Amino acid sequence: MAKIALNWSAVLLAVCVLVQLAGSALAWSAFGHSAVASVARVYLRPSTLEKVLTTLKATNDTSLESVAPWADTIRDKYPDTMGLHFIPNIDAPHQGKCFFDVVKDCVNDKCVYAAINNEIKAIRNTTASATAKSEATKFLIHFVGDLHQPLHATSFLKGGNTLPITFGLNATTGAPLKTNLHSSWDFHLPNKTVTKLHGGSTDKWIDSIVHRIGTEWRQQVPAWLKCPTEADQCVRGVESLKKHVCPVTWARESDAINCEHVFKDADFSKTIDEVQRNVTVTDAGLVDVSDKYWEAVHDVIDLQIARAGVRLAATLEATFN
Ligand SMILES: [Zn+2]
Repeated sequence: MAKIALNWSAVLLAVCVLVQLAGSALAWSAFGHSAVASVARVYLRPSTLEKVLTTLKATNDTSLESVAPWADTIRDKYPDTMGLHFIPNIDAPHQGKCFFDVVKDCVNDKCVYAAINNEIKAIRNTTASATAKSEATKFLIHFVGDLHQPLHATSFLKGGNTLPITFGLNATTGAPLKTNLHSSWDFHLPNKTVTKLHGGSTDKWIDSIVHRIGTEWRQQVPAWLKCPTEADQCVRGVESLKKHVCPVTWARESDAINCEHVFKDADFSKTIDEVQRNVTVTDAGLVDVSDKYWEAVHDVIDLQIARAGVRLAATLEATFN
C-alpha cells in the first residue's frame, strides 16, 4: 500500500518556501487553475514532483501550472469530456437547498468527482501508454480545481452561467461591465483580490494563500485531508487513496458554499425570477458583485484555492507513490 506523506515541513516553513514561488508564471485566462497548481507544488515532495513532471514529458509539458488549464482548451478535441467539469445536479441554492445524489447525478461517471476517480485509475494503470498517463495527469490537476469552484458543484442556472450580473464599470466604455455569476467566480472576483489586496501580482496572491495555510488555516488542514469511512465517499477500487482523497466529500463542501455564500451574500432573486420565467432580463435590475459581494466572498475564494491546492498535492502524492 502506498504511503501518503505530504511535505509537511513545507507547511511549517511556508514563509521560506514563498521564495520558490517568485517568478511562477500564471496564465490569466486560466487564473484559478494555475493558482491551485502553484499551491499544490509547494506541498509536493520533490521526488513526487519529479515523477509528475517526468510523466508530463510524454506530451511535452513542463510544469503543473501550465497544464492546469489544458482540459478547458481541448473540449472540441474530446467532446466526451464536456460533462466531466461539473456536477449535473439541479438543486436550489437560492432557496438554501444544496444537494446532489452521488449516483443519480453522475450517470455513467459523467461528473467531476467520478472523473477525478477515473483519472487516478488511468494514471495508475500499468498498461496505459505514456501519452495516456500524461493526459490523465493533466485532467486530474484540472478537475480537482474545478471541483473547488462552488459553481461547478451545482447546475442551477447552468452553474450561474445564465445568471447575468454586473462587475463594476467597463474601463473603456464606462458602462456597467455585464457578465454572469459563474464568470465572476472564475475570474472577476479573484482578479479583484489580486488587484486590490496584492498590488496586481498573482504571485503575491498565491504567496499569501500559502502563508495562510501555514498560519491561520493550519489547524484546519488535517480536516481538509480527512475522509469519511463510507465507501462511496472515497476513490473506488484504490485502497491506498481512501484515507485522504475523497472527491464526493469535497463536492458536498463546495456545493454547500453555494447556499452559504454564492447565492446568499447578495439578493439575486429578481434576476433569478426573470431568468426562470424566461422573460427579458433588464440591465437596470442586475446585481453588481464587485463591491460588497466581493467583500463577503473573497476570503471564501482564497480558502477554496487553498483547499484545492493542498488536496491536489495529497492526491498526486497518493497517486504517484
Ligand atoms: Zn474545467
